[in-house]
Amino acid sequence: MKLLIVEDEVKTANFLMRGFSEAGYVVSVAPDGATAMQQIGTGAFDLIVLDILLPGVDGWNVLTWLRGAGLQTPVLILTARDEVSDRVRGLELGADDYLVKPFAFSELLARVRTILRRPPAREATTFRVADLELDVDGHKATRGGRRLDLTAREFTLLALLIRRPGEVLTRTLIAQAVWDMGIGGDTNVVDVNVRRLRAKVDDPFPRKLLRTVRGVGYVLEDPGVN
Ligand code: CA
Repeated sequence: MKLLIVEDEVKTANFLMRGFSEAGYVVSVAPDGATAMQQIGTGAFDLIVLDILLPGVDGWNVLTWLRGAGLQTPVLILTARDEVSDRVRGLELGADDYLVKPFAFSELLARVRTILRRPPAREATTFRVADLELDVDGHKATRGGRRLDLTAREFTLLALLIRRPGEVLTRTLIAQAVWDMGIGGDTNVVDVNVRRLRAKVDDPFPRKLLRTVRGVGYVLEDPGVN
């Protein structure tokens, strides 16, 4: 079992590394969010222990990026932030568990074992909104049975939107998920790519599915539903 520990505090990181290694896990450590995203991109981990307050890209961003990219790797948030609103936010962003520092290693280990015992969530690989369909495994998008010729970015963008139908996704969230862009990045790239995607997904069809929410972001939904 491979674990990724995302922790900027050297003492805590070493402590976790030693503890989990002694418990039989293979452990990697990332000292910041950007390194974590890089390591997640290149290696398969069975679980990620994620600190929230990190230099640069923080834990919230890592988690948003991870789930936005469709990765189901279990995440346990380990943080000094003990506000209820933080816990809720963590779970809503797709964390599997949340433990507040200071913590007992025995409890952390027990929680990690519990998460790893759960059968992995079978992720859906085909998504549909109205007559628009996206097959992640087959890397194929169709509308009304007609194949859409999308670039890799357009496909990722559509995959993000179609996984969360009816939900308004902000430009910032989209920029983070599709372009690994930090807060404050230039989100014009999102608008440009949404326009290109729309030209393929919506323009040739009378029923429009990709809607702009002015000043906020974009939503993909069946207009017949609302
Ligand atoms: Ca920290």
